[in-house]
Amino acid sequence: MLSEQTRRWQELDARHHFHPFTTHKELAEKGARIITRAEGCYVWDSEGHKILDGMAGLWCTQIGHGRERLARIAHDQIRQLDYYNAFFQCATPPAVELAAKLAQLLPPGMDRFHFVNSGSEANDTVIKSVWYYWNLMGKPEKKHFISRTLGYHGVGVGSASLTGMRFMHEPFDLPLPRFHHIGNPYPWIEGRGKDPAAFGLEAARWLEEKILELGPENVAAFVAEPIQGAGGVIIPPETYWPEVQRICRQYDVLLVSDEVICGFGRTGSWWGHETMGFEPDIVSMAKGLSSGYVPIAAVAFGRRVGDVIFAGEKEYAHGVTYAGHPVCAAIALENIRIMEEEGLGTRASGPIGAYFRERLTTLADHPLVGEVRTKGLLACVELCKDKATGELFQPVGKVGLVCRDLCVENGLVMRAIRDGMVLSPPLIVTEEQIDEIVTKART
Ligand code: PLP
Repeated sequence: MLSEQTRRWQELDARHHFHPFTTHKELAEKGARIITRAEGCYVWDSEGHKILDGMAGLWCTQIGHGRERLARIAHDQIRQLDYYNAFFQCATPPAVELAAKLAQLLPPGMDRFHFVNSGSEANDTVIKSVWYYWNLMGKPEKKHFISRTLGYHGVGVGSASLTGMRFMHEPFDLPLPRFHHIGNPYPWIEGRGKDPAAFGLEAARWLEEKILELGPENVAAFVAEPIQGAGGVIIPPETYWPEVQRICRQYDVLLVSDEVICGFGRTGSWWGHETMGFEPDIVSMAKGLSSGYVPIAAVAFGRRVGDVIFAGEKEYAHGVTYAGHPVCAAIALENIRIMEEEGLGTRASGPIGAYFRERLTTLADHPLVGEVRTKGLLACVELCKDKATGELFQPVGKVGLVCRDLCVENGLVMRAIRDGMVLSPPLIVTEEQIDEIVTKART
């Protein structure tokens, strides 16, 4: 029996609240779970249930929930300067300091930043900046983007066109023209039964084939996540990224690393491209930048594109009201300071990442589990109908949703992507909490 307060919130929610990625009829029948409090790796709902946040919110709460220091910084910054913009030749100290800090964390030369509010806006900024760049370079025909069918890059009209999932395109008449999608370096599905190294090269060559089909003179950039998150924690074979980089260089195609999930220590180094071994021209970031405490995102430009844009005589006629918002930038800076002090940028590649892998791998003997894969503190446990053959459940995705709901009943947030059960806990997760994840996931 739910409390009166919960019922009231659920009724108001059902009547007035238009949720992201939700079938509202289904939600109205079930009623939303109302989350009211969070601390460390746990959240509590309005009925007092304590739930282990195995997804770090939505892949973002790197430093865990409820840090006093961030509350204090927000308070102090609001008292000092609540808001000013970066238009009309103005800047604020937190935005400038944050840009300089990010330049220290990224490889040399990747040192110019445009701030926005979300990952979607970051990737829309990527699209426009790349088009702007090729116009300045006198190659206005170089406008086509290539990304992947299970790549997720956001929901803006441009970023949703980069996103590859068809169910996100069809209801909205997307993608826009000039956006193209290739297959994924996904050994569990697309590389079934193949040698991983050979499959990595094969998957990279799909990019080359697409570039040749479109004509290299027409292709602006390849945009991809180092490890695909919302696509199902797809970890490419080691051969994939070096070959992708070689192909991009050969055909003069910009390489954009979408690090909205993989940035800020998630894969074991500060950046996913570091973990996977490639050098992008542009990096987009969000989520872990502020550990999700406030909305802030950024695009980092390496010298090749950054120098051209900075040298441009024409106005860079793009930017949002809250670009480099001083409160959000101050919180992001403090978040990064905490990450540095606690070694969270690389913690996932140390003993805790190894423990996470070791303990999750014990789930492989479960009759429903076909594969367990992890990188840093990212994981996917693939469920299937027949372990021996890897035959999937039909329709794909139904069993995953049942398991997701069972996990929440057990006090664990795991996300279902098709029939893959995905984890991305806060980077402060302890061994005991990893044990708790495994126990709750199994039962
Ligand atoms: N890019 C990637 C890789 C993402 O995972 C996401 C969100 O999950 C986005 C972009 C979009 O970010 P946002 O939801 O902040 O717009």
